[in-house]
Amino acid sequence: MRDWLSHRVRASPNATALILASTGESWTFAELDSMVEETAGRLAALGVESGDHLGVVTETRVASVRLLHAAMRLGVTLVPMGDSLTAGELRSQAETADVTAVVCGSATEGRAVEAAGDAPVVSVDPPATDEATALEDASPESVEPASRELDDPQLLLFTSGTTGDPKAVTLTIRNLLSSAVASAFRLGFDPADRWLVALSLHHMGGIAPVLRMPLYGMTVVLRPEFRAGPTADDIERHEVTAVSLVPTMLRRMLEKRGTLSESLRVVLLGGAPASSELIARCRNYSVPVYPTYGMTETASQIATARPKEAFRNVGTVGRPLYWTDLTVVGESGTPVERGETGELVVSGPTVTPGYYGDSEATAEAFCEYGLKTGDAGYLDAEGRLYVLNRVDDRIITGGENVEPGEVVDVLRSHPEVRDAAVVGVPDPEWGERVGALVVPGSEEVTRDGVEEYARERLAGFKLPRIVAFADELPRTVSGTVKRDAVRERLEAVAEGEDEEA
Ligand code: ATP
Ligand code: MG
Repeated sequence: MRDWLSHRVRASPNATALILASTGESWTFAELDSMVEETAGRLAALGVESGDHLGVVTETRVASVRLLHAAMRLGVTLVPMGDSLTAGELRSQAETADVTAVVCGSATEGRAVEAAGDAPVVSVDPPATDEATALEDASPESVEPASRELDDPQLLLFTSGTTGDPKAVTLTIRNLLSSAVASAFRLGFDPADRWLVALSLHHMGGIAPVLRMPLYGMTVVLRPEFRAGPTADDIERHEVTAVSLVPTMLRRMLEKRGTLSESLRVVLLGGAPASSELIARCRNYSVPVYPTYGMTETASQIATARPKEAFRNVGTVGRPLYWTDLTVVGESGTPVERGETGELVVSGPTVTPGYYGDSEATAEAFCEYGLKTGDAGYLDAEGRLYVLNRVDDRIITGGENVEPGEVVDVLRSHPEVRDAAVVGVPDPEWGERVGALVVPGSEEVTRDGVEEYARERLAGFKLPRIVAFADELPRTVSGTVKRDAVRERLEAVAEGEDEEA
């Protein structure tokens, strides 16, 4: 198999491959193909060759799209690195991934030079210093598209670093191809699709549509930075049909614009749990939402729900994708019954062969049923998946396990509760006690009311014993709840109560 663009250009050279949202400029597959050929030729002239690890500081711009497909054409393993990382963070990723060269733009040149160590730095813009070489200055060599095997690595992609340092995930052509096909089976596919890229290109959600664009023959619309209102307007203006978003982005877009363009047929929503309120809003405004659960290690989606299913079974991320086997494994290390909670373990062709250069982490990540996701959840009677929380966030109180996500779901289902976070609060007697920080949806809601509501729906050991109210939950910039801040707040409340007593 050669790079996907060189196959596509023979099938539909005149179809639109790329649109830049800010200017409306567009390129056909034939035009993109010659741009990629040129980029690949210049990289080859600079000594980049099959088997290299090409670090790319990925700004969302046309140059990055060219580089990505040029790397595929040359048979080079691509290492996308975030353009907002510090020099130190870039350095650590470049070292972890053994990059042999780093490509940057003028905005990131200083940091790229610091990060690259002995590896050469190439800039797609005129370089500011002589420590970087201009890509434009290399005269293109002619390159034959490299012939690749399914198990060749294509990407080393870093995880988000939620639970520790970001890990470099090896993704092979087989991983990417099977993910693209299984995704199309679930979302449907139409060469007339226009997929707006609003997520960063160094995460699976951002890079996936750019990689898949030639495979599907669809158009990618690039939208450099996320701003809720203008991004929603771009979707309307460019008649975008598909977009991947994280819940915070979608919530802000709906707040700004009320609803989204009718041109959309897929709003793929993942990366973090979507609140039932957000799903309800999508239903009320006819937003075709596909809640999804995925991770870097599985080249994106593990399970995805279609809109009807999402509206009917609020909170589900649907059934696993075609080819993906999902096993819910209990504390004893064996599969649990349907409906019971445990760690989600996945296997199938989208699952990474492992973390690059870290055989220890790789060995730890797998068990006999496949890759341990580190996430806790359960399957309902029809085989739909519900993701609750990370296994590490599990609360152990008086020897009993409580998944905070289950308690959160109950609290959020209270009609007068807008949002809630549940954490374990250290306790000398119980080890931990269940604590809940609740965002009220009206002034009527009381602690007693919330506690009684929970008592009717949860086993005794799962009941929140410490309850406090807040106007908003403390969140990180990416929208995840700051669990430590919630815990501190609840610890203070618990201490106050002890003093009163
Ligand atoms: P690290 O592995 O470095 O700690 P990370 O796991 O956050 O970081 P990613 O691969 O970007 O890195 O994210 C995958 C994780 O995101 C999943 O394991 C899961 O915890 C979370 N996630 C993704 N989609 C959902 C969802 N729909 N509901 C709940 N959690 C989700
Ligand atoms: Mg992870």
